[in-house]
Amino acid sequence: MSGDRIAHLRPVRPCPICKKPSSQAIHPFCSNRCADIDLNRWLSGAYVIPARDDEQEDEQTEHSN
Ligand SMILES: [Zn+2]
Repeated sequence: MSGDRIAHLRPVRPCPICKKPSSQAIHPFCSNRCADIDLNRWLSGAYVIPARDDEQEDEQTEHSN
């Protein structure tokens, strides 16, 4: 999705993450990174993962010789 010459009829919304001018290709975000951040926020809110304290309790198993 590059090279789209969309007429600038609307004011460019700032990126909700970093408030920078958003990119037309990936609006309303300015970059894939910010889109990913927003996605992670959304996921963390949608998928409330319960604290699993029965497993992975001692994950710091060092494989040292
Ligand atoms: Zn941004």
